[in-house]
Amino acid sequence: MRILIVGSGGREHALAWKLRQSPLVTELFIAPGNGGTALEGTNVPIADDDLPALVAFAREQKIDLVVPGPELPLVLGLKEALVRENIPCFGPNAYAAQLEGSKAFAKNVMRDAGVPTADFAVFDEPADARAYVLEKGAPLVVKADGLAAGKGVVVASTTEEAVAALDEIMGRKAYGRAGDHVVVEECLIGEEASFLCFCDGDTVLPLPSAQDHKAVFDGDKGPNTGGMGAYSPAPVLPASRYDEIIEMVIRPVMREMERRGSPFSGILYAGLMMTAAGPKVLEFNVRFGDPECQPLLMRLDGDLAAIMLACATGRLNEVTLDLKPQTALGVVVAAKGYPGTYPKGMVIEGIQEAEALGDIKVFQAGTRLEDGHTVSTGGRILCVTALGDDLAAAQRRAYEALAHIRMPDCHFRTDIGAKGLGRS
Ligand code: ATP
Repeated sequence: MRILIVGSGGREHALAWKLRQSPLVTELFIAPGNGGTALEGTNVPIADDDLPALVAFAREQKIDLVVPGPELPLVLGLKEALVRENIPCFGPNAYAAQLEGSKAFAKNVMRDAGVPTADFAVFDEPADARAYVLEKGAPLVVKADGLAAGKGVVVASTTEEAVAALDEIMGRKAYGRAGDHVVVEECLIGEEASFLCFCDGDTVLPLPSAQDHKAVFDGDKGPNTGGMGAYSPAPVLPASRYDEIIEMVIRPVMREMERRGSPFSGILYAGLMMTAAGPKVLEFNVRFGDPECQPLLMRLDGDLAAIMLACATGRLNEVTLDLKPQTALGVVVAAKGYPGTYPKGMVIEGIQEAEALGDIKVFQAGTRLEDGHTVSTGGRILCVTALGDDLAAAQRRAYEALAHIRMPDCHFRTDIGAKGLGRS
């Protein structure tokens, strides 16, 4: 089987690492990839949003399955473009990808499907949005409708902050057309958890729960990032509750997408807030999270290529998800200054020593190989991921491994896992 992975982050390195373990996979390409994916397959210099070039490459190379890592190619319609060429693609079509690509779309689907979520209103007129914010009062959450790389969400603790967010998103168009509409919603209180399922429009195969850490500093302080670490399972969402979430969230959304004529296929990722009144959906993603993907795939025992192909071709009922019973925990190593400005071109050493500890994988994100060295190219650089018999062991092992990594100006959180340990 010849596979093309699209993307260049730690998630794509994890996908490449896991797919390469499949006896079905004969050739693996990653577009554009990074220093880590270059060790698992062949990097191809095509950007993740260059649909014509991706489709042409898949056709010329007789690719059997395309696996988009990030949401953008899916939102732009990569699935349909490939299906026209009879090339299977793991993920939803552009219509269904709006579950992530448009927060207003996702909220309307949730309302129509009866899925618990924060109360909300959608606006396309700044004056109406402002009047609503003044009437409701803080705390409120203001969200640009479209994709804004995780930056278009403001949790406003004062009415002034909420109005300022509206001005930024709708007035100054800080995120371009993503701010043509805004969603203003009730502020929920609780601990967050990620729940990801393989779906093929009919069958649902849940992955174990996971927890991301978006804030840059310990104690969830500082600005939000792409994610500074993750672990699975997340004690806040134990396995005894998976069926409840499937019946309350995943199946209703699948039924609603089918009713709309666009059955959902791929990974449906529910970002949940575990509130005192029960779980409520904060957001949907239509792909693996980064960094949740790294610990989740460390725990997967089965053949990811077989699962993804079955999912893309509507045969998910023919496969099972076999998982290691251990906990996996990943700590992201970022460049100092990220998510603001940060240095690039740092030489990274110690990856092999870290992995030699066993049951450790150092997934690479913003890296490239240069004259035999691994060099940093981005803000999030590595995700040092460990398996352990429980959360405490996975945490200890991940930080032990991280101590072997040498890089001049790096930063990482020292408390990944603390929230979960606080519950046990
Ligand atoms: P990303 O792309 O980083 O996943 P996003 O732009 O899709 O983020 P959301 O996930 O909707 O945005 O929101 C980002 C974060 O804002 C959430 O993880 C959560 O911490 C906070 N948040 C969002 N909605 C609410 C809400 N209604 N109440 C409280 N906090 C919220």
